Amino acid sequence: MQLTVLGCAGTFPGPESPCSGYLVEHDGFRLVVDLGAGSLGALQRHVGLLDVDAVYISHLHADHCIDLVAYSYARRYHPSGVPPALPVYGPAGTRARIESSFEEPPTNGLLDVFDFREVPPGEHRIGPFEIRAVRTNHPIECHALRIEAGGRSLTYSGDTGECPELVELARGSDVFLCEASWTDSPDNPPGIHLSGRQAGEHAARAGVERLLLTHLVAWSDAASILAEAKEAFGGDVERVACGSSTTV
Ligand SMILES: [Zn+2]
Ligand SMILES: [Zn+2]
Repeated sequence: MQLTVLGCAGTFPGPESPCSGYLVEHDGFRLVVDLGAGSLGALQRHVGLLDVDAVYISHLHADHCIDLVAYSYARRYHPSGVPPALPVYGPAGTRARIESSFEEPPTNGLLDVFDFREVPPGEHRIGPFEIRAVRTNHPIECHALRIEAGGRSLTYSGDTGECPELVELARGSDVFLCEASWTDSPDNPPGIHLSGRQAGEHAARAGVERLLLTHLVAWSDAASILAEAKEAFGGDVERVACGSSTTV
């Protein structure tokens, strides 16, 4: 599996990165996980605009899904013609969330460009990927995903506060792509995001091989978040960047 970061800024785009978007490739199949603000632009540095086989949206906050609006135009008006409707997986309400972002609801419901597949947490097969989703600890339904193919495993946290279910999901993963939005503080509100320390603790409890930190908010102290995670995990920890790519 190949993981490429299209965007990793939490909550709003930063000067160095769009919001969340990840390209996961295996056997020629291209799955995009999340398509937050600006990530559609970065996608085109890596693959053609139409060379996506499926999308999985973790949750319906704009920093994870809003570029589906822009992507609907890119697919409908592409000079090579309208391609087959793209499978878009996501929690209940995904279709209505995207449709409601238009000044007038699209008369065809976007069904000419997107094949919305609203799914509950659970097991899903998408192309060559076996995917298990669990609900995280976040104000709206958010899916953390364990993605497996070719005997390898990648777990993505989505957005979450402290979450034992995420630890179980990530258990023994080769790569754990985990949000670490802010530095640790007793003043952080519960049930929204993880600190660097908490991301490291989740990785340690899950016994993962590598921890990749993502979803840092642009004004947070990235060096401190990384140091916290390293101290708590003790294993291989890195912070991802827009455009970074790794073999899982
Ligand atoms: Zn987010
Ligand atoms: Zn969120």
